[in-house]
Amino acid sequence: MNYRPVPDYHMHTPRCNHATGDVAEYANAAIAAGLSEIGMSDHSPMPGDFDKPWRMDRSELSDYLQEVETVRDAVKDQLHLRVGLEADFHPGTENYVAEMIQSYDWDYIIGSVHYIGDWGFDNPDTIQVWDTWKIEDAYCAYFKLVEQSAQSGLFDIIGHPDLIKKFGHRAPADSESVNKAIEDMLQAVKKADVVLEISSAGLRKPVGEIYPHSRIVQRAAQLAIPFSYGSDAHSPAEVGHGLNECMTALETFGIREVASFKQRQRSMVPIQHV
Ligand SMILES: [Zn+2]
Ligand SMILES: [Zn+2]
Repeated sequence: MNYRPVPDYHMHTPRCNHATGDVAEYANAAIAAGLSEIGMSDHSPMPGDFDKPWRMDRSELSDYLQEVETVRDAVKDQLHLRVGLEADFHPGTENYVAEMIQSYDWDYIIGSVHYIGDWGFDNPDTIQVWDTWKIEDAYCAYFKLVEQSAQSGLFDIIGHPDLIKKFGHRAPADSESVNKAIEDMLQAVKKADVVLEISSAGLRKPVGEIYPHSRIVQRAAQLAIPFSYGSDAHSPAEVGHGLNECMTALETFGIREVASFKQRQRSMVPIQHV
């Protein structure tokens, strides 16, 4: 089953120190792949030393914006290029993130949880910390933070909503505490009227599956929570990766549209077969 391309709103630049390709290369890759809309969403600056090696410095933000705007204007006849950010949700940093968001006319902001306390749980360099956690407890702590990220009111899109499974650590499907944490998270997403990201990045990671799990997609569909699509490309070749798989996952549960953003206003575009 093949789908018409939908907006891909999740891609990075070398400013985060773990991606390759400049914005023009991402735009050209998108055009070559037949996409008509993408958004850049590099890892945002964060206060102090929070996750410093893996993101742009605040001093780089204006260069990032200038590069995206320049390419946006250059390709406007072929591609809608949106200006976004992937900010972290991390308790205690909300005021900084709010100020950063207010400092520019963004098209959308992705809010992602990459840390439980001071543990970067998706970082391969600290994978050994998993040995000190009961998997169910890590899942519950993670989904609580995702719930809080929705409640924060800072974000338009909740990034890769079950990233906690990245390395293949799995909580039992019948875990009451984990299932409650997921339900609480989804209720908060619904109440805050934010969008969940369906992300193909997990297909390229040890877990080997889309974020979020089909059970979460199914429950979100019941609650009429909208989705946006993101490849989380860290190189131009990854733009649009897994789009068919992600659209299939949504359609399986009756979801027929995905979100598009401009200046933080959401509209929905249909999922269409070729
Ligand atoms: Zn992320
Ligand atoms: Zn990302």
